[in-house]
Amino acid sequence: GNKNINAKLVLLGDVGAGKSSLVLRFVKGQFVEFQESTIGAAFFSQTLAVNDATVKFEIWDTAGQERYHSLAPMYYRGAAAAIIVYDITNHASFERAKKWVQELQAQGNPSMVMALAGNKADLLDARKVTAEEAQAYAQEHGLFFMETSAKTASNVNDIFYEIAKRLPRV
Ligand code: GDP
Ligand code: MG
Repeated sequence: GNKNINAKLVLLGDVGAGKSSLVLRFVKGQFVEFQESTIGAAFFSQTLAVNDATVKFEIWDTAGQERYHSLAPMYYRGAAAAIIVYDITNHASFERAKKWVQELQAQGNPSMVMALAGNKADLLDARKVTAEEAQAYAQEHGLFFMETSAKTASNVNDIFYEIAKRLPRV
């Protein structure tokens, strides 16, 4: 039969990587060029049907600023899934993403489904992080990797769909 799954999902990553934009694209199908910075965290929910289940994502979009770092465990603790976002045009944001992966692997739920999103994939001319580099990192650390664009919508539904498929069926 069809299962209903509730899944807490957290987005982590550097300020400006596009976390809020990915959520806005996924939940509302919209994109804004001047997305306001998130303060603390914001909550959204969205339901997605996969083959054998209906997954209701409870999404925590975190701020990313270092001064809010101490709040992050509140959002990733108990989360079934995480999307760690970096900006393909900003190598420092990729390094920051790796720090988040480390923290989640040390402190998070061991069965958490983790996705690495290389966002702003529409800005190819400004690329600083190759897909190969990110893919190799993801593979080595047990995440799955996709390049996304909140602007063009490329791979946005797909990354949530891929997470939904990988969530444990209880
Ligand atoms: P956050 O701090 O991680 O939540 O990042 P935001 O969602 O606030 O995005 C930061 C800036 O990057 C905003 O000006 C967005 O419009 C822009 N942005 C986000 N995603 C994309 C994308 O996929 N492509 C492009 N070109 N710009 C993006
Ligand atoms: Mg934000």
